[in-house]
Amino acid sequence: MHEMSLCESILEVLQQQARQQNYTVVKTVWLEIGKLSSVEPDALRFCFAAVMQDSLAAAAKLEIIEVEGQAWCLYCARHVTIEQRYTGCPVCGSYQLQINDGEQMRIKELEVA
Ligand SMILES: [Zn+2]
Repeated sequence: MHEMSLCESILEVLQQQARQQNYTVVKTVWLEIGKLSSVEPDALRFCFAAVMQDSLAAAAKLEIIEVEGQAWCLYCARHVTIEQRYTGCPVCGSYQLQINDGEQMRIKELEVA
């Protein structure tokens, strides 16, 4: 599962940061997920709980911040919001879109102790 390996890499980042910043417990993780990243928030929560078991983030809360997909439509010459990848421009239906936000998956903030 895609979400499983994502959670494994999140755990690696947490462990690495814990060494650098001298913390031992992660209390909350705020994750920014773009709507175009094809990450399923429910699946991610499920995997997060499984992967974090017996780690420094075993009791961590996962807060998911969803980010809208943003693209530039070459045809309309304006910014548009898109719900999914491979959809056309909501205004003109053109597929000439340059995506500029909503593809990310990153740790935005951590609450640690
Ligand atoms: Zn358009």
